[in-house]
Amino acid sequence: MSYSGNGLIFSSNLESKHIGSISGPHLRSNSGSSDVKEIVCGFCQSSKLSMATGPMLHYANGKPVQSSNIFDSNVIHVHKKCVDWAPRVYYAGETIINLEKELERSGQLECSGCGLKGAALGCYMKHCRKSFHVLCAMKILHCRWDFENFLMFCPSHSSLKFPSEKSQFGEKSTKNNSKSTQMYISYSFNCCCGVTEWVLCGSALSTKEKFLLVKFGETICVSVSKYWNPNVTHVITATDVNGACCRTIKVLMAILHGGWILKIDWVKACMEALYLVDEEPYEVSLDNYGCRDGPKTGRLRSLDNAPKLFKDLIFYFIGDFVPTYKIDLVDLIRAAGGFVLACKNKLVAQVHDGRIAPSTALVVYNLEPPQGSMLREDDPVMLWKREAEVLAAMIGSHVISDRWILDSIAACRLQPFTL
Ligand SMILES: [Zn+2]
Ligand SMILES: [Zn+2]
Ligand SMILES: [Zn+2]
Repeated sequence: MSYSGNGLIFSSNLESKHIGSISGPHLRSNSGSSDVKEIVCGFCQSSKLSMATGPMLHYANGKPVQSSNIFDSNVIHVHKKCVDWAPRVYYAGETIINLEKELERSGQLECSGCGLKGAALGCYMKHCRKSFHVLCAMKILHCRWDFENFLMFCPSHSSLKFPSEKSQFGEKSTKNNSKSTQMYISYSFNCCCGVTEWVLCGSALSTKEKFLLVKFGETICVSVSKYWNPNVTHVITATDVNGACCRTIKVLMAILHGGWILKIDWVKACMEALYLVDEEPYEVSLDNYGCRDGPKTGRLRSLDNAPKLFKDLIFYFIGDFVPTYKIDLVDLIRAAGGFVLACKNKLVAQVHDGRIAPSTALVVYNLEPPQGSMLREDDPVMLWKREAEVLAAMIGSHVISDRWILDSIAACRLQPFTL
């Protein structure tokens, strides 16, 4: 039996040694095991602690309880967030007023989010019957908030105005509101839910979108990398009117590594909802060359532990490449599990002595002529292409262009060999 550092879950040994018998409405057995108790919030019935819930507070007879006494039977436990948003609770100095009454009232009210009782926070629309645990409401898109005055409209009434928005100083209070909203976002995001391993990386974003991404990273306490590295878990990309992303090395690398490639709209949705919304609806499914579903295919391949895309393939380059472009291509091939051979004689010798199967060797030439355009016979591109074809014919391998490499990675599927 383990003892958690924050003292919320404890074993029967500790119980009998230090605390004596346990009872009271806000202690419950953990996972059916009778000798482990948890402290649960009187409102939301949860024992979880996060940045979103704030600390668990303990009261008896309206006064805060010292930590040594929190397991006494008359002690009431509530999340700071839950009690802050309980409409009838207030403080007079150290004393908390109406806590018991509010627990009793909300004990009759079912949460429209999770269905459990204790839903103290009602929609601010007078005749609306909806009540929520504040933490449940925060997970619902389109609930609208007045963080200054602790008010909320449910999604059905989110178009209505809060009193502060109707006031003659409307402009001023809106400004204050947006400032408190900013602070509140940081506070309310749950940073303890395993996202600390995340690394975000922007691709082809505008200055404004980059700024938003950095802000988002700060808000959820994860790092934002300017450059691709294998630890990147989410590439956040701009998309055009068709939802197509720009094919960048970051996007291609993320496909090979099985990471998320998401529209910037995902970041906006998270910031609006104040929690991390599901990534999948925001996954990019098209790139600006018309390749479809590469990100999803790459992600599923990685989840399935499928072999790497270019496993067992040997690449040999012919012709002039812009050096930085060639470095990118080589990096991509290696990330895809392929092997780049630099020496032609080695390639020929290894195919001849059987160490390389001809079908796994790919001779790569650069600068595929744009589709439909006619190139002159003496154009260097045509010469390189012919040289590649001669070599491939000699060793019985395939000829591909650099475009084949990029298309295969972008679709996360080997493209047909056209030659
Ligand atoms: Zn709570
Ligand atoms: Zn709830
Ligand atoms: Zn409502």
